[in-house]
Amino acid sequence: LMQLGIPLNFIGFMYREIRQGVTDLEQMFDLLAEPAEIVDAPNAGKLSVQGGSVRFEDVQFSYDPDRQILKGISFEIPAGKTVAVVGPSGAGKSTLSRLLFRFYDVTSGRITIDGQDIRDVTQESLRSAIGMVPQDTVLFNDSIFYNIRYGRPDADADEVREAARQARIAHFVEGLPNGYDTPVGERGLKLSGGEKQRVAIARTILKSPPILILDEATSALDTNTEREIQAELDRVAEGRTTMVIAHRLSTVVNADEIIVLEKGRIAERGSHAELIEKGGLYATMWARQREADEAEARLARVKAED
Ligand code: ATP
Repeated sequence: LMQLGIPLNFIGFMYREIRQGVTDLEQMFDLLAEPAEIVDAPNAGKLSVQGGSVRFEDVQFSYDPDRQILKGISFEIPAGKTVAVVGPSGAGKSTLSRLLFRFYDVTSGRITIDGQDIRDVTQESLRSAIGMVPQDTVLFNDSIFYNIRYGRPDADADEVREAARQARIAHFVEGLPNGYDTPVGERGLKLSGGEKQRVAIARTILKSPPILILDEATSALDTNTEREIQAELDRVAEGRTTMVIAHRLSTVVNADEIIVLEKGRIAERGSHAELIEKGGLYATMWARQREADEAEARLARVKAED
């Protein structure tokens, strides 16, 4: 639901609305498109994207008034560059991506794209400029074709097939008895984590947004699949302003800047080499990750010998 842009408290709100009987279906869909707490400013214009440079300026945020999650975050992703956000679980990494997509508004400070405060532009224009490859892709109970074309509903069949090819899922789909018409989702063919990610990548290729949020999968992919998907994501990110929310460190080495978030503050920032040199939190996390990777590789070798 998060990924559809429907905060949980909104469900409660909708439930009360329905109970009161004041909401007919049409209104309900209007509400779904525009969550109650986030509304367009009365004079909101369209976001005008030049290069797509993103700035967080002293951003503070809390979901609940009594618990501050982000405590003054400032950074910039210059147009076309990649910034990776890393840090311990619960540090607030995914919250940054939710704020950029404007699922929530900042409590103080501001977020701008090419100098425009994202609260001053329409949500529609904001969201059409940003592509999101989430941790867990939501598939609709519909055909694979529909699920890919969702990235740009006016795309034609050739464009959908081309996006699938670039996301390296065309081969798989074309091998199915019903090809692109195969139903997927809860009631259809169950796709693996990697296949779902490729559907999300194909959607994003179709949408071709200037700004990209990659919220990395924490687990679930084997090493080879992960490496392949990473290569595809790198290709999609080329030339786009990209924020990578990284749960594993192996994928951030080439980022233009790495931001290390800890308890809602930026603890360290710099390139991979600079942060290793510094010998702080990032260097510790990196060493730990390497140990884990080596242990995994040893285990794989032992298994292969059996
Ligand atoms: P992880 O690496 O485990 O995904 P993260 O750094 O991405 O963690 P966030 O998802 O940004 O962390 O969450 C930061 C904090 O905000 C957490 O303590 C979490 O419990 C809290 N939080 C997240 N979403 C909500 C919500 N909808 N309502 C209240 N608190 C929330």
